[in-house]
Amino acid sequence: MRDVMSPDAERQRAVVDVFADLAGRAGYGHLMSPILEDLGVFLRVGESTDVVTKEMYDFEDKDGQRIAMRPELTASVVRAFVQHNPTNLPWKIWYEGPQFRHEKPQAGRYRQFSQVGIEVLGSDDPHVDVEVIALGWRFYEALGMRQVSLLMNSLGDESCRPAYLEALTRYLLDRRTDLSERSQETLDKNPLRVLDSKRREDQAIIAEAPLMVDFLSEETGEHFAAVRAGLEALSIPYEISPRLVRGLDYYTRTTFEFASTALTNAQNAVGGGGRYDGLAESLGGKPTPGIGFALGVDRILLACDDEGCFPEPATAPEVMVLDLVGGSEAIVLTDQLREAGFRADRTFDGRSMKAQMKVADRSDAPWVLIVGEDELAQGQVTIRDMQGDAGQTTIDRGDVITELKTRLGA
Ligand code: AMP
Repeated sequence: MRDVMSPDAERQRAVVDVFADLAGRAGYGHLMSPILEDLGVFLRVGESTDVVTKEMYDFEDKDGQRIAMRPELTASVVRAFVQHNPTNLPWKIWYEGPQFRHEKPQAGRYRQFSQVGIEVLGSDDPHVDVEVIALGWRFYEALGMRQVSLLMNSLGDESCRPAYLEALTRYLLDRRTDLSERSQETLDKNPLRVLDSKRREDQAIIAEAPLMVDFLSEETGEHFAAVRAGLEALSIPYEISPRLVRGLDYYTRTTFEFASTALTNAQNAVGGGGRYDGLAESLGGKPTPGIGFALGVDRILLACDDEGCFPEPATAPEVMVLDLVGGSEAIVLTDQLREAGFRADRTFDGRSMKAQMKVADRSDAPWVLIVGEDELAQGQVTIRDMQGDAGQTTIDRGDVITELKTRLGA
């Protein structure tokens, strides 16, 4: 696992701020759920997926309870929904935070990574699907990302998925020995996931496999058509990706993925989600439709780097205070600057003027205020332009705030 250092950490937080603003304006409340869950929460939703069976960090706690560090948040959110039973439906929430998966770390794939997401429980209106997908789309737009494609599929529901699974399983079993060893294993546990294989030897078989879209019941087909019509009304472009299946078992009907075409490696998925109309019930709640998405903050920022958008927020101070006298003057001046709203930092340790100037230089602060013996005696401060050609002058101590405001404004 890695440390996210400044200024990358500030940039991650700025992404979350953009997301929180969008979600808040769209009527989503913030949910902060625990990082640890009872292991059963995830076992019940993803028994046949790698995320749950191979990649989860789980352990026994001091009471002997089996605990998992969350590998994703949808299951936690639905667990919270079942537990608190909110009556105001649809229940719309957004979240952000770290997820944990024991994967082989590589560019864009980490063992601890950060996601933002939303979930809506209590309505299967296709306009909810449209709202959810559109919010993801608008978020990428707000970050300045232009090279994002939206891939859509419908995975059907209990009215049509069993017939499709039967056809798919029959098709794959007939070609079993030609599949990669890994896909043969997947076939026994979850035939749908074979479609997600990127292995070369599987590709020809996958290309000819029966497609869910050809098996959709009338109702599911109409639901999917209504979702697509809504996206078209919003001028949000999408591609139908009939082999798109997602990493967890619980998805039904609308599923989607956001891919960055700016990211050229295999890790180009910057987000994904879908409907999970059976999940609340499998976690012990009343049958409740639901839909949501999770977007990967780390990977989004890699894509932003490639697109040249959403730069790091400024972390350099606007002003640096140099203390040549000791005593309390520099403490008081720095405090006043911060109280007045400036990003203000100062030197410590009473070193030479030259050494302190070096610190100021390295800080990238455009302005330096020098507290020296003479200045202190005359109730003045020296102000120095570090990046322009205004040079160095002394100003009255009482004018510092207004003077700095003018200079930074200019
Ligand atoms: P998932 O929950 O697998 O659908 O993931 C949703 C999004 O989280 C993906 O589209 C990625 O952007 C991001 N993501 C998933 N796994 C990782 C990881 N190991 N490292 C970084 N980002 C990830």
